[in-house]
Amino acid sequence: MKIYNTATGRKETFEPLVAGRVSMYACGPTVYNYFHIGNARTFLFFDVVRRWFQYIGFDVRYVQNITDIDDKIIAQATLDVVPAAQVAEKYATAFIEDTNALGIEQPDYQPRATQYIPQMIALIDELVKKGHAYELDGDVYFAVESLPGYGSLARKNLDDLKVGARVAANTRKRHPSDFVLWKAAKPGEPKWDSPWGEGRPGWHTECVVMSQDLLGDTFDIHAGAIDLIFPHHENELAQARARTGKPLANVWMHGGFLNMRGDKMSKSEGNFFTARDVLQKYDAETVRLFFLSKHYRSPIEYSPELLDEARTAMANFYDALQFVGWKPGNDAQASWSDEAKARRDEFIAAMDNDFNTARAVSVLFELARAIKNEKDYAIELRREFARLLVDLGGALGFFTDAASRLEVGGALTGKLLDLLVGYRIEFRSRKMYDMADRVRDDLAALGVELKDTRDGTVWSVRHDEVE
Ligand code: AMP
Ligand code: ZN
Repeated sequence: MKIYNTATGRKETFEPLVAGRVSMYACGPTVYNYFHIGNARTFLFFDVVRRWFQYIGFDVRYVQNITDIDDKIIAQATLDVVPAAQVAEKYATAFIEDTNALGIEQPDYQPRATQYIPQMIALIDELVKKGHAYELDGDVYFAVESLPGYGSLARKNLDDLKVGARVAANTRKRHPSDFVLWKAAKPGEPKWDSPWGEGRPGWHTECVVMSQDLLGDTFDIHAGAIDLIFPHHENELAQARARTGKPLANVWMHGGFLNMRGDKMSKSEGNFFTARDVLQKYDAETVRLFFLSKHYRSPIEYSPELLDEARTAMANFYDALQFVGWKPGNDAQASWSDEAKARRDEFIAAMDNDFNTARAVSVLFELARAIKNEKDYAIELRREFARLLVDLGGALGFFTDAASRLEVGGALTGKLLDLLVGYRIEFRSRKMYDMADRVRDDLAALGVELKDTRDGTVWSVRHDEVE
């Protein structure tokens, strides 16, 4: 299995620290607002990474934090005239609700920054004692020049950083890139006691402490979107190296942005749709398919047209399953026919090649086409393709609720539809074609489509109509 590693700039063969296990940390949200559909792209992709590792047999330990103390939270609390903790609690709850609604599985651990303040103070204290950090009027800064190789992750060097920062160089920091580990509290701000007075930890310290506490000094994969490479991940790495002399993670994975008219979707620019809003219009699987149809490192432009296409494609998958009477059960079978295996191997090869979901999704499309192709494939094979479609799709987070989605209103609906299909057959056999057509047309008006196949008449429900 190959993964593109930001730290080396290459696709590399993945070597887990412990055979059969993956330890993985993805930076979570700063909870001061509802998250947008751009953030959702990143959360959703790492949900797929986790699912894929599980599918191929790894035991995954997945940590995603919640940043529940930060300048942005304090600013929002000031606007709302409520305590910062109340803002954080409200949007942390919303984050969990919205990720659930997106079909994202919750991480194994979801640490919150405010639960780790003593450990953060301990790290900062250690860095000060080792000469990697210094205090300035109640703030504590990391001294980037104290750590040879600072900037390696983002491929930046200190001289260039100094030149770039000259205009804003009006602080007493030793180097303009020195970053804050501890911030002195201003009046009215949330605060904790520390050796440097009352204050709060900086964001970069939060993530390094939580990840190392739950995954160890060095873990397999550290993840986020590309905006986090610098300074956030560089600064996490710097603290870890200064503390242990070892890298924080072996692989650094970064996803591309969701853009709006060419610019990164972002809360601060105001060019965003919340995940909540988008889920009013599109179901979770449609959103998932829209994102996974592109490679995770490519930018994606937000596009209602492409979302509509993804919705039609999803309906088509369900239609294919219905077409051959797929029922829940042993989708992950131990052995597959040569025809099925060839497609499965192609899917696995795509995913093992740096999570090429675009290619993997195209294998799913091909399976759906084959399932409906009565001319070239026998019904047994098409049923096997349907099981494979659900099995492989499941590895990307699709079809997790296929049984109930196909049943629509439950068993009774299915029985009533079978009854109507039976009436139509009866009408036709009595040459009452107007009545037979009326059954078909009335059902069509309700979004139920009838198809006459070699295996009899089958009905399917157009999901965009019923949702
Ligand atoms: P934030 O709450 O802003 O710290 O972002 C949470 C996660 O979403 C981080 O991993 C960011 O890198 C990621 N992110 C932010 N904006 C976008 C975007 N437009 N497209 C994809 N990922 C994003
Ligand atoms: Zn982080």
